[in-house]
Amino acid sequence: MVVSVGIDLGTTFSAVAYIDPQSKLPKIVPNREGNKITPSVIQFVNGQPIFGAEAESAFNAGEPGCAATFKRGMGKTETYCVIDGKPFTAEELSALLLRHLKEEAEAELGDTIKEAVITVPAYFYSTEREATVRAATAAGIKVKKIIDEPNAAAMAYGLNNWRENANILVYDLGGGTFDVTLTRMGCNGNLSTIATRGDRLLGGRDWDNRIELLLLDKFAEETGADIHSDAATKTMIRGMTEGVKKQLSAMQSANATASIPDFGSATVVITRTEFEESTADLLDRTGALCQAVLTEAGFSARDVTDVLLVGGSTRMPQISQYIFRMFGKKPITHVNPDEAVALGAAIQSTKENESYAALSMQVMNDGKKVTDRSDSGLSLHLSVKPSQKLSSLGLLTLRETTAHAMGIIAVSADTTKYINDIIIPANHPRPVRVAKAFAFYTSANCVDEMEIYVLQGDKENPLDNIIPYKYVASGIRHIKEQKGKTTIKVQYSYDNNGIIHVQARQEDDRIDLPIRKEFVPDDMSKYALPIDPAEFQRLELLNVVMAVDVSGSMSGAPLSDAKAAMCNFIRQMDFSHTQVGVLAVSDSTAIVTKLTDNENACIRAIQSITCGQTGYGNDAHPFAIIKSMLESKEGRLFSIILADGVWSYQDAAVAAAKQCNAAGIETAAIGFGSADEKFLKDISSEDANALLVSQSQLTSAFGTIAQSLGGGTARSGYDNTASDADTWDD
Ligand code: AMP
Repeated sequence: MVVSVGIDLGTTFSAVAYIDPQSKLPKIVPNREGNKITPSVIQFVNGQPIFGAEAESAFNAGEPGCAATFKRGMGKTETYCVIDGKPFTAEELSALLLRHLKEEAEAELGDTIKEAVITVPAYFYSTEREATVRAATAAGIKVKKIIDEPNAAAMAYGLNNWRENANILVYDLGGGTFDVTLTRMGCNGNLSTIATRGDRLLGGRDWDNRIELLLLDKFAEETGADIHSDAATKTMIRGMTEGVKKQLSAMQSANATASIPDFGSATVVITRTEFEESTADLLDRTGALCQAVLTEAGFSARDVTDVLLVGGSTRMPQISQYIFRMFGKKPITHVNPDEAVALGAAIQSTKENESYAALSMQVMNDGKKVTDRSDSGLSLHLSVKPSQKLSSLGLLTLRETTAHAMGIIAVSADTTKYINDIIIPANHPRPVRVAKAFAFYTSANCVDEMEIYVLQGDKENPLDNIIPYKYVASGIRHIKEQKGKTTIKVQYSYDNNGIIHVQARQEDDRIDLPIRKEFVPDDMSKYALPIDPAEFQRLELLNVVMAVDVSGSMSGAPLSDAKAAMCNFIRQMDFSHTQVGVLAVSDSTAIVTKLTDNENACIRAIQSITCGQTGYGNDAHPFAIIKSMLESKEGRLFSIILADGVWSYQDAAVAAAKQCNAAGIETAAIGFGSADEKFLKDISSEDANALLVSQSQLTSAFGTIAQSLGGGTARSGYDNTASDADTWDD
């Protein structure tokens, strides 16, 4: 009974493998055409998808209705291609292909496939891995696990060539992607990845493109025709490229014959040397990534025990030669590169390797050497020494690592720019969970949510990395007794499949917060710019002194309206980082309350103010006392003056206001009644801070100032300074 398989969902070809119940060995499931690999190509004929060699030929011939290499578009929400007016995403196309692979394998095996291990390139981002899982689900396949292609290959190789403490470099060049992974065969069947790198846009198709350029030049030279601008001829030549490339893997030169308009049949020859010269830069790109992996692991080329070639493109002789030049040893090529990944996935698909427990018993019973009873293309000559514990194969386990660092968009320590604050480094064993605690400020009058932008990559500038999702933690409760200050713990994790998860909880009551995943806005340019200091003023310490005119003209409604407006201002401020002092001023100045972070004390102080409490005239100004109250304080220093008339000694007041300004104190002046606008401007630190209003507008004038100081509805936020926190279970 076969219910679980391994699927290599490749860019150009896909393959399905299973564990043969009799031999307990991994085997490829041939498709209906008897081939071990199926082209990852779909052709739509009358709206119906067809697959296999027919679809591939149609694609190569440039026929309409074909979709290929769609793995390159995995995880993207936009349409990958439009066929007969119907848009398809890469995920939808992959689902169709997976369903086809499942159905063909079921027909061959005579059983229902319920679940599968599916392979992806090691560098696939979280969104691409999730899209793969969704595509499989849509195809009726439960994903048992997603594993990285090079690890699957190493698994297949390790099964037969287990050597303890060997460092295996898996060089995987497929049709559309390149992966290089350093894997360690440890003790007791533990296979673990040490470091991995990849280029999502480098693969056999790039070699095809070079052949195409060579062919176009040669046909143009041979025939004198303007082939470069003839779309039909170019499509025809395009269809020949892969065949020519493959010929050059077997021979020193390859012929290509085409019928050229106004010329007739023409034949050109490409030599392997020409091909290799025209693709040397592509090889060097793979070499640079190999070097990066070695550097990351702290290894030199000598430390690599074996280089394993995987992926159809490693059949090009230039690859083996390049590896020999770089590592001083011949790579291992006897693992069939088209099949190794699927076979490794099949090994992983067996439940807790139960079949392998059986296999190892069988190996022990059979003696030292087991010959290949599968026709998988894997030669099963065990190189395990008789002294080694063969039963370790029964415990073959795979420990994978994170290909990409995970970070968040955070504010740099000097609050001048946004950075990628790395939470989990690249090449860390997965699954892995890390939690961080953030100080968060809520307000009573707005819905509090915390936005988290998760990044994949280790570049310092956030926008140089992949931003898979924006997470929004909602339902953050305002805790009045704590003046709105709370702690939000955020847990970031990579699961077994390399998929990112984010959870959040409000630490004060340890209740998990609902998290929603949103698409990242198109315009993220703000995160590349220097930070606008206004963004952070709400989190800066704020010291405010309010001075209210209590001269005779304020008697009655003017003073009661002014007090109501001031109380309203107080209620809008966030006292978790604000202190307010209150002065009464007329013939002299009295401190009604010193700077305090006690909201209620401020309100009581304002309510206690009476007209004439410091005299009924306007002889005094409050600036000397304001300066003495504020100048030694940290954070933003601000004074608000409320006057309803003209002061007696204006020049002295203006001079003292300027001294305040010089000491870093900003001043806003609100005037009403017979107040003089010029005087208000003279005592304000900037003209915009002088507000001449009517008595009925006092509340809104104070409200304007409260908002400019970060009050009002824009009060919630977090200071982006994360500290380590304990993780928690799901
Ligand atoms: P994969 O994605 O691993 O299935 O690899 C597919 C790629 O391998 C395609 O670009 C093929 O053109 C390429 N390929 C397969 N066989 C050969 C060969 N004999 N020589 C050169 N490239 C090959």
